[in-house]
Formats: sequence, C-alpha cells, structure tokens
Amino acid sequence: MVNHKPLILVVEDDTPVRNLMTVTLKTNDYKFLTAQSGNAAIMEASSHNPDIVLLDLGLPDMDGVEVIKKIRTWSNMPIIVISARSEDSDKIEALDAGADDYLTKPFSVEELLARLRVIQRRLAVMQTGTQSSVFQNGKLTVDYAAGCAYIDGDEMHLTPMEYKLLCLLAQNVGKVLTHTFITSKVWGSSMESDVASLRVFMATLRKKLEAGGEMQYIQTHIGIGYRMLKVE
Ligand code: CA
Repeated sequence: MVNHKPLILVVEDDTPVRNLMTVTLKTNDYKFLTAQSGNAAIMEASSHNPDIVLLDLGLPDMDGVEVIKKIRTWSNMPIIVISARSEDSDKIEALDAGADDYLTKPFSVEELLARLRVIQRRLAVMQTGTQSSVFQNGKLTVDYAAGCAYIDGDEMHLTPMEYKLLCLLAQNVGKVLTHTFITSKVWGSSMESDVASLRVFMATLRKKLEAGGEMQYIQTHIGIGYRMLKVE
C-alpha cells in the first residue's frame, strides 16, 4: 500500500459533484487538489504530480480525452474518468487514450472509494513489481522469464494464446483494457472477428484461472473490455 496520504487531483467543472468528491476524499483521509478546466488540470497534474487523477470528460475548455493524451506524454499517473455520458464509445475512447478506469455519473460515494482502492492496489504493484520477472497475484504466479504460470503452485496448462493474454492482463493489473487494445497487442489487429475470438480465449483462460476457487481474477466490462483484479 501507498504509505503516505494519497494526493488526488479532482477535475470537475460541476460544483456540487466536485464538492461531493472532495468531501468524500477529505473524510477518507485523502489529500486533494481541484481543477475546473482541462488547462487547469494539465497545469495541476504537471506541477503537483498527484497519485491519482479523477477526471470529468465534459470540461468547458476541452474534452477530457485531450487531457488524458496530454498527461500521457509525460506520466503514467492513474486516471479514473468520470463521465455523465453513458455511451460505451466515450469510455472506450478514454481508456484507449490511457485512462485506467471509469465511473459513470451518478455514482455513489462507496463506488468512488472502491475504484480508488483498486487503483491504489495497482499503484502498489507498480511501485514494487516493475523490475520483477515474477508476477504474484493471490494464488496466481506468472514467471515471465520461464514462460510459465502457476495456480496454487501447480503449473497451468495454457495455450500460447492464453498465456499471451494472461501476461498482458498481469502486466496491466488493475487497469481496464479495451477489446481493441487487447486484440491489437495479441493479434496485431482489431477486427470484429478478433473480438469474438477474444471472448472465447478469455472464457477458457478464466476457467483455468478460477477453477475450483472462489477467487475472481478477471473482471468483464460488457461492451468495453477486461481487467485483471489485484486480489489479496
Ligand atoms: Ca462537466
């Protein structure tokens, strides 16, 4: 876990929503900064290097996706997109631009806190595990150097494609990956037929991962993509 109070940048032009978020953060022991426009967000992000950014997509001066693209030119800081738009295409565009997760308005305080915890677990992995050739998550171990994966100490029998998918999910643990992102990484293209195949490969991989266990490793985001959860 992050051992200091995490600093959250709240980017939201709607005052009641912004206040709800900052009050929630304050009462849950987070530090925060606020910005009400895209330009202010980019400035705060570059000068204060926050741990996590909560970013509204509909900003008065620019689209939030532009803010993500700008921040991604210099930083991998986790970004959670918060949007009133319920269309999947907006979320997908934001995720493909480099956002880590999304929340749809209206959202509950509990939902917001849960998303922050997911990202904090991802941050903890990023801080400790980036140099390691072995990935650990609950009962799952991926030994990248050996090209093997184990569940509860037993070697998993994976097809090359399943192993490739597992590695991609593991390397991005905690982050929602879109269908397009996954298929372009795994197949080098992203046709409709690839998305259909992806569903099949993901189903068999999940079956092998979650066989006989109560643990959920892969979360499905219908119409959007998949995320590997960091389990305790
Ligand atoms: Ca807005």
